[in-house]
Amino acid sequence: MSHREPSACAALRPLCWVEIDRAALTANVRTLSTRARSLGRQPLLAAMVKGNAYGHGRLLAAQAFIEGGADWLCVADVFEAAELRDAGVTAPLYNVVATPSDHAAAAVSLDLRMVTVDLEPALCAAAAARAQGRVARLHLKLETGTHRQGLPLPQLLALAARLLDEEGAHIEGICSHYADVEDTTDHAFAEAQRHRFDAGCAALRGLLAQRGRDPDALLSHTSNSAALLLWPEHQATLLRFGIAAFGLWPSKETSLSAQHLGQRPIALHPALTWKTRVLQIKDVEEGGYVGYGRTFRALRPTRLGLLPMGYADGYDRRLSGRGQVLVRGRRAPVVGRVAMNLVAIDLTDTKGASVDDEVVLLGAQESQGQEHAEIRAEEMAAWLGTIHYEVTTRIAERLPRVPAGMAPRWR
Ligand SMILES: *Cc1c(COP(=O)(O)O)cnc(C)c1O
Repeated sequence: MSHREPSACAALRPLCWVEIDRAALTANVRTLSTRARSLGRQPLLAAMVKGNAYGHGRLLAAQAFIEGGADWLCVADVFEAAELRDAGVTAPLYNVVATPSDHAAAAVSLDLRMVTVDLEPALCAAAAARAQGRVARLHLKLETGTHRQGLPLPQLLALAARLLDEEGAHIEGICSHYADVEDTTDHAFAEAQRHRFDAGCAALRGLLAQRGRDPDALLSHTSNSAALLLWPEHQATLLRFGIAAFGLWPSKETSLSAQHLGQRPIALHPALTWKTRVLQIKDVEEGGYVGYGRTFRALRPTRLGLLPMGYADGYDRRLSGRGQVLVRGRRAPVVGRVAMNLVAIDLTDTKGASVDDEVVLLGAQESQGQEHAEIRAEEMAAWLGTIHYEVTTRIAERLPRVPAGMAPRWR
């Protein structure tokens, strides 16, 4: 079988790509770190790189977060962990989703911390740890009201008691996850969850002490970005966060809650700009249709720009006839259907637009003589009836992520 060198396209300028402001990612983690440590405590900081770092590019984000002071990185499965390890990342890794038994040995070999809610995967991990001369680092997840992963306290304590007898198994932490911080300004439910969590921590520490282990070595963690932003005073020895590190507030409700609490404003900086370029300019006569299903009809002589991207790149088809993009510092509407690899925009009112113009799909565009133009992930989420987390995370992984300021290259 002949093997073609991948270099034929390696240096080419892409059709669609993502630029990442590394300095913004680093600064966001520094800001969160300052906030978390403002009260004299030194919790460990665990930054999310799951979901290809919410679409920002796993490796790029990992490096920027470490530079900003993150201690740990969080992934959602062994495959993401393996990519980081293969790229030389040595930081502690934590899997936010429970690892199934058949992935336990791989998790141990990657030194990936595991959420633990069942005996069997933990025993598989412990056996692998003995075989590999390593230790399986387990974080027991407590049910506090989210009802996804998580064990009621009596079962968690029974599991812990069993695992304390298991050579190779190390109970490193206890964790939980809030159900409802971002979607409300009424935080009674979250507080009730936190009280249950605190009680669970105390009970597990009691068991550890009883069994001659150091209870103070146990890590406890239940925060996400919203909890960290709103309640830095809450006790925890490890803080998990994602969205805020990417420069986005978790929600409007979280910003409002911060205002209600009288907090000083916290500056977070979005880091992602999703770009493409004009492939072709095309004039359509009045009355002409555009695209599949003829969903757009030109009511005037119309100048179209054709963009060489589409839903194959993660540009949601529901943006058909609804989305907007930035060209020359101005908004231009998406017209007709978003196709797999082509999108049409209306450039009739964009003076001087030409082939190869840079187009911003998401993020800011500076242009001489124009006001600052920006399409924020929150705005695109509103067009789509979803949340900004999904908007950035669904940008196709095949698109190159390049540090802002560098010429984009396919690979
Ligand atoms: C993704 C995730 C987080 C981070 O949530 P953000 O709102 O992005 O800060 C925290 N904890 C767990 C368990 C997660 O899965």
